[in-house]
Amino acid sequence: MSDQTEWNYSPAPESAKQAHISGRYEHFINGKWTAPKEGDYFSTTNPANGKKIAEVASGSQADVNAAVKAARAAYEGPWGKLSARDRGKYIYRIARLIQERAREFAIIETLDGGKPIRESRDVDIPLAANHFFYYAGWADKLEYAFPNRKIASLGVAGQVIPWNFPLLMAAWKIAPALATGNTVVLKPAETTPLTSLKLAELIAESGLPEGVVNIVTGAGETGAAIVNHADVNKVAFTGSTSVGKLIQKSVAGSNKKVTLELGGKAANIILDDAAIDQAVEGIVNGIYFNQGHVCCAGSRLFVQESVFDEVMWKLKRRMDTLIVGDPLDKNTDVGAINSKEQLRTIEKYIKTGREEGSEMYQTSCKLPASGNWCAPTVFTNVAQSSTIAQEEIFGPVLAVQTFRTVPEVIEKANNTPYGLSAGVWSDKGARLFQISSNLDAGVVWGNTYNQFDPTSPFGGYKESGFGREGGLHGLAAYLDM
Ligand code: NAP
Ligand code: MG
Repeated sequence: MSDQTEWNYSPAPESAKQAHISGRYEHFINGKWTAPKEGDYFSTTNPANGKKIAEVASGSQADVNAAVKAARAAYEGPWGKLSARDRGKYIYRIARLIQERAREFAIIETLDGGKPIRESRDVDIPLAANHFFYYAGWADKLEYAFPNRKIASLGVAGQVIPWNFPLLMAAWKIAPALATGNTVVLKPAETTPLTSLKLAELIAESGLPEGVVNIVTGAGETGAAIVNHADVNKVAFTGSTSVGKLIQKSVAGSNKKVTLELGGKAANIILDDAAIDQAVEGIVNGIYFNQGHVCCAGSRLFVQESVFDEVMWKLKRRMDTLIVGDPLDKNTDVGAINSKEQLRTIEKYIKTGREEGSEMYQTSCKLPASGNWCAPTVFTNVAQSSTIAQEEIFGPVLAVQTFRTVPEVIEKANNTPYGLSAGVWSDKGARLFQISSNLDAGVVWGNTYNQFDPTSPFGGYKESGFGREGGLHGLAAYLDM
């Protein structure tokens, strides 16, 4: 905006040399790097410049069979026989190794996925280590977590994760599975396999018995081969609602225990008594954090009419200060869109928003010439029925609506097929409680947004899936009781 003084930070790039990345990665099966049976590899690229980073094995049914077989043997062999206390020690060791390599993990996460180094360094990697620490502590205390219950592990867990928080999602999946005595076959997303493979290196170093954690890389078919495998006892999936529905159909009638963490269309609600500056920070964090590649992103904003002009003025002013560009630069606020395909999806939604009559504002920051980029975008004049208010965009695009009364905003916020998360901003605790207890959402943040902690359960209602990850609920999802 015109009243901003023109000045810039000097570039402060993190050195990619700190990261050791091989030219080619095989699957990690039974504690060994194993070439794909059909010999196929695919490339993973840096979305900030389109350059290839490494080649990664493409998993076939035969590779998945080998991984499940190794996981079964470990479950029935050394891992199953280990005391809970010793299980915990391995998980602690993995947590500490992640901390020791935190810088390298952060760089690889940013190179492979496009998220700003500040986020991978300060959010993704520390949280991933914390998940291992937290669940390590529970491994030998399960009878206290579930008193008077007869509990047993499930067996082999098949886990499939998306590209928006690659290492963190791997930690959410692997840590509780190990703490409860299960073994794992995990597939990272096609566009972001590298931190899971780095984690495999470190798991080998930790001395974890062979076959307890197996990492098979590949695309959607590899994921389908895992979840459909007859010898898998538990399916844990995080990803889109459309694939979640397919998985639910394919496991119907089997004995597999299933958790699905799917899409979202969160409402961020600002009441007229909210601290507006603080709320604007929360809106920006809610939708532009990780380029909006967040299932719980605050992608719908509801502003009480009397403060609408003030909120929009402050929001646009704040958006204009966001630095979009090189994800490895420590000044960067908004990094690269994860893939060309995702960029096309976001651009399609922006076009639809304009065609349906909403008013668009985009920051005028200069975008780099190569790579996948989208300027922070906000739409006003959005109807409840607008496509951009109904469908998950998974990009830095905010749809703003107004409301007059609390019952009206509760109704509008709940008018979505999703139910993952929401945020409420108000000076009055009573109003926060009234609204949050009436929202159909697994997580509701009050006067903050996007806060995560391993002790808090996370998960959705309606088409956002079922089951919870994190906290004691996250342990229960891996136990028979
Ligand atoms: P996606 O297409 O559903 O992919 C997720 C994972 O499933 C990837 O590893 C994918 O492999 C794999 N996959 C694709 N088709 C499959 C099939 N038929 N059977 C088994 N696995 C299959 O989702 P995405 O677009 O990568 O991720 C974004 C979505 O994840 C968003 O909708 C977001 O809301 C959701 N998400 C939810 C949460 C949550 O906790 N609720 C957290 C993060 C993300 P490929 O990568 O090779 O396609
Ligand atoms: Mg990549």
